[in-house]
Amino acid sequence: MAKKERCFCGSGKASKNCHRVTSDSRAEHLFKLFGEVDQAEKKYYENSDTKPQCYSGCNNCCSDFFTVSEVEFEIIMDEIHNTWTQEEIVSLYKRVMDNVRSFQSEHPELVEALNTQLDYERNINNLKSFKGKSRTSFPCPLLDSETGKCSVYEKRPFICRTHGTTHYIIEELRSLESTVCEYIPSRLKHNEVSPDLTDLHEKYEQIVNVITNKGSLQIRKLPIFYGIFVLASINSFDPSKPVLKDRHNLDMSMKDSNKMQLKKAASMG
Ligand code: SF4
Ligand SMILES: [Zn+2]
Repeated sequence: MAKKERCFCGSGKASKNCHRVTSDSRAEHLFKLFGEVDQAEKKYYENSDTKPQCYSGCNNCCSDFFTVSEVEFEIIMDEIHNTWTQEEIVSLYKRVMDNVRSFQSEHPELVEALNTQLDYERNINNLKSFKGKSRTSFPCPLLDSETGKCSVYEKRPFICRTHGTTHYIIEELRSLESTVCEYIPSRLKHNEVSPDLTDLHEKYEQIVNVITNKGSLQIRKLPIFYGIFVLASINSFDPSKPVLKDRHNLDMSMKDSNKMQLKKAASMG
């Protein structure tokens, strides 16, 4: 990893003291996209008279069933292990264990489905549309309970930056009306007062999955509490150990990481 180099973000700091990613890695591409999302949002709201409820510090989406990608987990865990105290990490792991236990008792069918992403997504949609559930009974373990703010704000995932954008990527679904959550009864009305980030969402999917002219792989996404649980379990929740054994999304160029993942998938048949 080119740690002595200046960080790509233009802060002037050494990479190891800033974003800590190798040049041209998947994580660097994603950070650049995060910058585009933040800019697009800023520009939109600067020129908009009406703002949706989620704009002003609403953190209700932080208690949702949504999933985030592998590279986003690597970014979050790297941040935690480089900037948090051991006490803070112990406390996070405790919250994560509590979250897993609650989830297991409330949604045993979903815990099983977490092992196969497609099943998880299908089950979540069933749960939302048929049981009227749009929230987990606990907030994201990264939400600071005292301040109500995100504890990894600068490094938070794509979806957390979009204030739950409701503009659909799929063309045929764009005009479909639906209830988004208990606070947003109409998706189409919400679209009128929130930025259309579909182009950036498409770019996101291109970055977080393996997409090459030699083949493609859909990389499994997980809910935040569960992804941290899986990664932390590898080191038996020992806060003194760097949790990431495999940092290919941070340390390898995206091209090499894609090659490696396609090779691994081929060897597993
Ligand atoms: S990462 Fe931060 S913004 Fe995203 S759900 Fe968790 S606390 Fe909320
Ligand atoms: Zn930086």
